Amino acid sequence: MSFAPFDWIDAEARRRAAAGLVRTLRPRDAEPELLDLASNDYLGLTRHPEVTAASAAAAHRWGAGATGSRLVTGSTALHAELERELAAFCGFEAALVLSSGYAANLAALTALSGRGSLIVSDAGNHASIVDGCRLSRAETAVAPHADPDAVAKAFGAHDGRSLAVTDSVFSVDGDAAPLPALAEVCRSANAALLVDDAHGLGVLGDGGRGALAAAGLAGGDGVVATLTLSKSLGSQGGAVLGPARVIDHLVNTARTFIFDTGLAPAAVGGALGALGVLRREPERAARAREVATALYTRLTAAGLEAVRPDAAVVSVRAPSADAAVRWAADCRTAGMAVGCFRPPSVPDGISRLRLTARADLTEEQITAAVAMIAATAPRQTDADVS
Ligand code: PMP
Repeated sequence: MSFAPFDWIDAEARRRAAAGLVRTLRPRDAEPELLDLASNDYLGLTRHPEVTAASAAAAHRWGAGATGSRLVTGSTALHAELERELAAFCGFEAALVLSSGYAANLAALTALSGRGSLIVSDAGNHASIVDGCRLSRAETAVAPHADPDAVAKAFGAHDGRSLAVTDSVFSVDGDAAPLPALAEVCRSANAALLVDDAHGLGVLGDGGRGALAAAGLAGGDGVVATLTLSKSLGSQGGAVLGPARVIDHLVNTARTFIFDTGLAPAAVGGALGALGVLRREPERAARAREVATALYTRLTAAGLEAVRPDAAVVSVRAPSADAAVRWAADCRTAGMAVGCFRPPSVPDGISRLRLTARADLTEEQITAAVAMIAATAPRQTDADVS
């Protein structure tokens, strides 16, 4: 028998190609400048001179890397400052910075639940939440999307630890979770509520303080939030926010915190710089929401099927995966980058273009974006099976 341990990969690749589901990397410097409606730089801060200067200054002061895990050599005074700032800005008692939002979700879920406990997870939750549930070894009930009654029912008579977990703003369709109702359900069931505010921070709430602040739930006793620093804050990294005893528990038990190298100082500095800009210019949050609403309103007026946005993500339905890929490619040719979501990234199998509103998009850019999307839209007759 010949030695060919990876031949199965070629067979999988052929199946993906036949289904039109191949993914390819496109290094950005190989592209002409495109109008960006694909990135998560919601507030336009990733290239803000104050943010890049803070990032560079942090690298100069503390080094290119954190040099070790947070509990060994990887905690700098800058990490501690960012933790104080994030907690204060979002209205929580304490915060813990990790190397990504992904790691933050794994940390929170594995540290707060385990064998014998129950997690009730929204069907539309991000992959990092799904993975965190699996890694926790808790019993996981997947509740229908945005359905607090179903969450209540799933808690049922479970008499161990229990926790509900949800995205604050769902990354595919841009709709918001019913946080007040979920908090009520959790209170009645003596359950914790974990909210991934990756897409709410910087966009929702007064001055961008996030979805939990907007719902009056920030700092609540049973409430924990996870964040990414890589979207509105234009940097990289993640965080968990909550009561001090929860954060202490994570420091002592969360494996993606303990065994991971601390976040690079440049990323910490960049996030702090971005928080500074946001504190001074709180109107950026409302502007991102305004741009999203403008995109939605004008796309809908042009006859396209879009989901009314609750934050900065605008989802536009495509008739099929192939049509979505072609549509995104045509947008690119026309000079604009848009996201393209298709199976298996979308649990319901419906392909979409995913547009992200940015606070720094001009009126002319919004008009141009809508015109390009409408001009390249697949005609109804293209509706091959999704
Ligand atoms: N949660 C949600 C809802 C996200 O959209 C993302 C980023 N795609 C993450 C978590 C992961 O964050 P990070 O990219 O910082 O790992």
